[in-house]
Amino acid sequence: MNLPGKIYLGIDCGATTSKVGAVDTDGEPVSPRLRQSSTRSTDGAQAIVDGWMRGAADFLRAEGFRWSDVAGVGLAIPGPYLDYGVLGKMPNMPESLKGWHFLDDLTDAVAEAAGRTIPTVTANDGQLAGFAEARVVQAGHGGSVFMLSPGSGLGCAYVRADGQFDPGDNHAAACLCHLPAPVELFDVPPLQCGCGYDWNCIEPYTSLSGLPQLLRHYLPRYPEHPLHRSSATDKEKALSLRGLAQEGDALAREIFDLQATALGYAIAMANRAYDPTHIIIGGGIVDPEATTEAFRIRYFKCMKEAAAKYVWTDFSKMRFHQARLGELSQAIGAALLVRQSETG
Ligand SMILES: [Zn+2]
Repeated sequence: MNLPGKIYLGIDCGATTSKVGAVDTDGEPVSPRLRQSSTRSTDGAQAIVDGWMRGAADFLRAEGFRWSDVAGVGLAIPGPYLDYGVLGKMPNMPESLKGWHFLDDLTDAVAEAAGRTIPTVTANDGQLAGFAEARVVQAGHGGSVFMLSPGSGLGCAYVRADGQFDPGDNHAAACLCHLPAPVELFDVPPLQCGCGYDWNCIEPYTSLSGLPQLLRHYLPRYPEHPLHRSSATDKEKALSLRGLAQEGDALAREIFDLQATALGYAIAMANRAYDPTHIIIGGGIVDPEATTEAFRIRYFKCMKEAAAKYVWTDFSKMRFHQARLGELSQAIGAALLVRQSETG
């Protein structure tokens, strides 16, 4: 148990689950333990805020802190935003949340829980993951960073060599995930993206959001596959694919080879747009508790081969890293952002 002291909380509101983390005054994570709860986005805004506050209270209790120790709260949440702290139409969340003043609601809920006003900040979850992970990679190395995190969608972040990220004038910078994929390089029909734009965004090719579509395309090629007899939903079948790929299932492997290749193309796009030295891959795919080393080696090999073909600069100068903070990176990034805003 930690001794009480000033900490900065970070809440990560993903489309599927919400997580809580914290950093101390030096910016070091307070706890490596991952605590997550369902975001319950279909139950509306109040249910989501209640979930954040429950998660924060559980975290404080488990780590030996109180609200009086909390100097700031950061929130990581997917964009796009209509304005700072106001949701736009998020690709993987209900449309009814569009226009929600989520930062005001968080600020009010935190003030009620703590009995005083506590500073709050927010940013795109992908950018905050990059902000936290870049701090690890840049220590002793320097160089700018692009991070790609395949999860429900494809989180993206660009972090300058000085460790800062530029959120863009509308908090939507570095959003390569919704740029068109080079569809002519894939042996699959164009995939639809949850954002609603019809120019074949690269996000579904690289993330969970596209797995049901890829499964519908590839499954008929494997007539003996057990998934033909499964009564699971499309989403459940899609979620089973990573486990199957790690067991050597040929169908699942073909799908993840394609996803890794697509991520390689996204890296080449990042290279052309930002010319970073470091590429960090985050998300569950690089989590040692979620994937085997053999799976990760195969995934990175496919990804790098695709990237090497299309980068604009000398590929040998690019440095590849697996995220170190695991699924806590967005929450830690949110905590670091509010720490920075309060301490300069
Ligand atoms: Zn899109």
